[in-house]
Amino acid sequence: MPIRLHDSLTRSLRELQPAEKDGVFRFYNCGPTVYAPAHIGNFRTFTINDVLRRLLELEFGPDKVRHVRNLTDVDDRTIGQAKLEQRPLADITRHWTQIFHEDCRALHLLPPHAEPTATGYIREQVNMIEVLLQKGHAYRAADGSVYFKIESFPDYGRLSRIKERELKVTNAVADADHKDSVSDFALWKAYKPEEDGAVRWPGPDDAAPGRPGWHIECSAMSKALLGDTIDLHTGGVDLLFPHHENEIAQSQCCNGTQFARHWYHSEHLLVNGTTMSKSKGNYYTVRDLLAKGHSPMAIRYALLAGHPRKQLNFTLESLHAAESAIATLRAYRATLPETSTAAHHVFEPVIAALHDDLNTPAALGALFSIVNRKAGEADRASFDRALFALGFDLTAAAPAKAEAPAEIKALAEKRWAAKAAKDFAAADALRKELAAAGWSMLDRKDGYSLEPMKK
Ligand SMILES: [Zn+2]
Repeated sequence: MPIRLHDSLTRSLRELQPAEKDGVFRFYNCGPTVYAPAHIGNFRTFTINDVLRRLLELEFGPDKVRHVRNLTDVDDRTIGQAKLEQRPLADITRHWTQIFHEDCRALHLLPPHAEPTATGYIREQVNMIEVLLQKGHAYRAADGSVYFKIESFPDYGRLSRIKERELKVTNAVADADHKDSVSDFALWKAYKPEEDGAVRWPGPDDAAPGRPGWHIECSAMSKALLGDTIDLHTGGVDLLFPHHENEIAQSQCCNGTQFARHWYHSEHLLVNGTTMSKSKGNYYTVRDLLAKGHSPMAIRYALLAGHPRKQLNFTLESLHAAESAIATLRAYRATLPETSTAAHHVFEPVIAALHDDLNTPAALGALFSIVNRKAGEADRASFDRALFALGFDLTAAAPAKAEAPAEIKALAEKRWAAKAAKDFAAADALRKELAAAGWSMLDRKDGYSLEPMKK
């Protein structure tokens, strides 16, 4: 039974198959912006994509899947955070990349085969913008920025079904007077010293020095690493418009061929029945939950408990239920013989549910109906295949959270006070003192956290 997955472009279930003769399935998943910890809503998307990656490996073979997930390390948010902390952009993004990787390891996500960064692919982005300028799909504005000309691409809006009128409202931005049309979007942003600090690169032909717009990075990196046409492009539903719509426009106008053969979007996560926000007190990161004593596999389980294309309500109660489900699986595995000749297909209903539009709750239901039968038909080898697909590592334990010693906390308090008093020289000296002691202090608008620095 082939893998069938909902395709957001055609709004239908379609089979996943590699297009190229080499039989390699090319899979691109939009990654995080590394300026703060990813929250559990972001990790819902990454975990769903991890199940998809595992399923593709089981279907086509581990060496026949190529999975790329990018890191956005230059945009308004990363630059804003660097300014707030008065640190170089690369310091901020390096730090949050490391935290992201720790969270991914905790949740047992397979690392992508390539993890390109936007700043590592500036040349490729500039090249692509130059082609778009030459082909008449882009134009240079008075300030030296470059914009994509939406009216030059009649298919614009096909993915999101957005009407032109809505488009103008949604895409309207403050600097509309620099552009031909309020719905055009930036491919290249001219350098503005007051906004960009020290962040700039030489621009495309005739354009000013500056930095790429956000959307062009995924078009350029997927082209560089996977080719002009990819088999599957995924992301959270929040990326469908404008990000993915803009990726299609850029890639297809530049390359003159179809960009992604299949689009898949997972839905939002709600916490306690409402959207996550810091002010509502329902904003969780993976490390927040680990620090409260929840196990990473229970978090993973809770994130997979709802259908990926429906909103999922995450609660601490659902996490407790997940904790006992994981304990049940662990105890069950201990009762199984290593191998048994009759056991081969016992867990196939789990895999079959995932093949049917990545139905993770049905897969978990199928898993537990077998586990609860407790008959002696299964073995570890067949059970582990189902566990691999769902990504449960039953040997994983919660990593210990490092607590800063009292003298480090005191230094951090002093630095926070100095910064509040705008004594930046003192604040900077204290930051260096903390760094020398092996701690980095991460400022946010509403407070700070302390993290041990990695050697
Ligand atoms: Zn993207």
